[in-house]
Amino acid sequence: MLNLSKESILIVEDEEKIVRLLEIELEYEGYETGKAMDGIDAFDMFLSQKWDLILLDIMLPGMSGIELLRRIRGKNSTVPIILLTAKDSIEDKVSGLDLGASDYITKPFRMEELLARIRAVLRMRQATIPVPPNPIEDEWLQFSDLRVNDKTREVVRSNLDVSLTPKEYDLLLYLVKNKRQVLDRGQILEAVWGYEYHGDTKIVDVYIRYLRKKIDVGFDTALIHTVRGVGYVLKEAT
Ligand code: CA
Repeated sequence: MLNLSKESILIVEDEEKIVRLLEIELEYEGYETGKAMDGIDAFDMFLSQKWDLILLDIMLPGMSGIELLRRIRGKNSTVPIILLTAKDSIEDKVSGLDLGASDYITKPFRMEELLARIRAVLRMRQATIPVPPNPIEDEWLQFSDLRVNDKTREVVRSNLDVSLTPKEYDLLLYLVKNKRQVLDRGQILEAVWGYEYHGDTKIVDVYIRYLRKKIDVGFDTALIHTVRGVGYVLKEAT
């Protein structure tokens, strides 16, 4: 488990010497690091936990850095990515930036320059991370690291796909659309189940429990909170 107070950087690079050097320098600067030496391993590492930044070499065995970048952005992740490119690959730089890389640095690079770019990208993250245009992007409702696609009924938390039953989905959608508002059980019941269930608010508690198992249990922070004597609220803080 990573120390949560440190920013974490995933190093994706197949040259062992460079990986070693990056690990030493980044850890010395106070970052937590992880490494992957091929594209497939890197994608698994990306899915397995939340990273603050990814350093991504373009020429990789298994899956190219560009393909990996496409897949990461395909998961609607906005994690900042700095590409490590060879001097002569202008096209890779351009397509990398088009696909939503935050920056790139040409190899061989000076460590000081890379560290400066990492600091700059981490400072600007959230605000300016380019997300590639995506026709169904507009259908995504986002709350914290939770995303719900109202067209395809896909649900993603912290880049992990979550599979919900139709009712669980309806309930979650209602919570997301009314985020940060305290919703009483009767209100939820009426909105999600309709009038025929009127009065039987226990079903709300049951489904909230199902939903928590899928979108909250096992994640760093809970999003569904109980408001004693009233109902529930979807919010970030505890
Ligand atoms: Ca390489």
